[in-house]
Amino acid sequence: MEIYKKPLTAAEIKAKARELGADLVGIADGAKLDTSHITQLDGDRAIVLAKRLNDGVARIRRWDDRHKYYNDELALTHLEETSLELVYWLEDCGYPAVIVPPTHVDPSQYQDRPKEHLAPMLSLPHAAVEAGMGTLGLNLQLLTPEYGPRIILTAVLCSVPVECDQPMKDALCLGPTCGRCLKTCPGDAVLEWDRDWAKCDPHRSPHGFAQLTEHLDRIIEANDAATRKQMLRSETSFNLWQSILRGSGVITGCRRCADVCPVGADYEQMLASAHQEIPENTPAKERRLSAMTGAVPEKHRRFIGVLKQI
Ligand code: SF4
Ligand code: SF4
Repeated sequence: MEIYKKPLTAAEIKAKARELGADLVGIADGAKLDTSHITQLDGDRAIVLAKRLNDGVARIRRWDDRHKYYNDELALTHLEETSLELVYWLEDCGYPAVIVPPTHVDPSQYQDRPKEHLAPMLSLPHAAVEAGMGTLGLNLQLLTPEYGPRIILTAVLCSVPVECDQPMKDALCLGPTCGRCLKTCPGDAVLEWDRDWAKCDPHRSPHGFAQLTEHLDRIIEANDAATRKQMLRSETSFNLWQSILRGSGVITGCRRCADVCPVGADYEQMLASAHQEIPENTPAKERRLSAMTGAVPEKHRRFIGVLKQI
């Protein structure tokens, strides 16, 4: 028997998501994202939700500051609760729904190499572009008109037959003539319309699985019991324990590229005074930037948009 489905509109779903705590919301066509590896039945739409990251920690210049990790983790927890409440509401209206968090990877892809980058099961920045919420920047971070890249994302998959949003045509990114994300990056991971994930991962997840296995390896390989005991009680163990406890430093970490990005209505008022200088910039980084043409590769054009002529 077909369960009763309450007729819903895209505007009603967005209003509910905002009422529950989302700062931004857009709706993407699930067929454009291929959600069938997550759900065969309930992925016709991806409702993408964003919560802004607070500016107070964005003004802290150190990339490896625990307050940043912790505040961002709380924003994610808030957004996850918002997503769950939205799922219950959609299901009460007759539409089964599934949450996709920003960091979910497919365990079957893991090949016993902790340092190898694993792509998430669904790229939420790409889903957000399809949902008309923003465009991708030089290092493929999502930029939004409201908060630039200083947001965290989840998606709710649901086969609710409502209208989809359309991607923006014009790029929000200012391209290599800006390049502030590259200048600041502590891992030197920013490429032209790409990111070296192997270099970024130890920063964006500084106390994650790779660091845990590395630390345990070193403990196992230590020569004597006294050294092993000392390593077990070290600051590294303490940071790993704290991170496992809350996820801060594992699912949240470096976001220097987001903090210094001038895109977003919040930047001038809240952040510009903290980030005039970029202390991590070097002549080598300047040379790499000036060698860039800004030409957007075909495969990224839909997601980056048309750059302004500067
Ligand atoms: S998250 Fe940090 S390491 Fe990764 S690209 Fe941004 S600034 Fe670089
Ligand atoms: S910092 Fe500049 S180059 Fe980097 S994403 Fe933002 S606008 Fe684009």
